[in-house]
Amino acid sequence: MALQKRKKRPVILVSNDDGIHAEGIKRLASALRRVGSVYVVAPDRERSAASHSLTLHRPLRVLETAKQTYAVDGTPTDCINLAVHGILSVRPDLVVSGINRGINLGEDVSYSGTVSAAMEGTLLNIPSIAVSLEGEYGKEAYDYKPAAAFAAKIARHVLKTGLPKDTLINVNIPQVKNIKGYRITHLGKRFFNDVVVEKLDPRGKKYYWIGGSVDRWEGGKECDFHAMQKGYISITPLHLDLTNYSSLEELNGWKVR
Ligand SMILES: [Mg+2]
Repeated sequence: MALQKRKKRPVILVSNDDGIHAEGIKRLASALRRVGSVYVVAPDRERSAASHSLTLHRPLRVLETAKQTYAVDGTPTDCINLAVHGILSVRPDLVVSGINRGINLGEDVSYSGTVSAAMEGTLLNIPSIAVSLEGEYGKEAYDYKPAAAFAAKIARHVLKTGLPKDTLINVNIPQVKNIKGYRITHLGKRFFNDVVVEKLDPRGKKYYWIGGSVDRWEGGKECDFHAMQKGYISITPLHLDLTNYSSLEELNGWKVR
């Protein structure tokens, strides 16, 4: 009897916005190596909140730092774009971005480089997942183990079933001892205190620093914040068409003169 043909290992492209040296991407890549052949293409330094920016006005340099591992002096979006169109000799079957140090909930997704790397994958028609872990920014006491294990599980699932057209999934993992499971959610909305801090530099000149503390969130029981607060992993399907379809009728009634 002929031997059964060995199935080809899926190719998984991994990136992030915390930079190639971040613990989260190392844990993610190592968990995904059990699922497929992993290529890491990530920014050479932290590019958190880089959003979906693409570098067009300077050349990009790529350094191969290990086998199938490349550091790029660009944004997370640059990394996915370069990986697919330049660096990799094979087309990835899946893009996984993360594991981000800190949540990406609600409107975070429009600033997040982690989510944008997955958006770029989606634009290139590759099923894409963003993974973020709850924790306190600036502290390294993150337990990546449950997040990495879940990332491998969902990667396997998406490789098998695919994703709805033009859709990426935004996964957030709570930092709790016993994760209760996962919930499919929609984005909530967060409100901040002290959004901009005004101070004086040592020469007496004014400067500003963006970043406040969270005051409260809204969005109801089906939203991402609620799931996380209750100890569940939040999975939000996102699409890139930002059209507000429910407002089309109202705007079609406008008579702008
Ligand atoms: Mg980050």
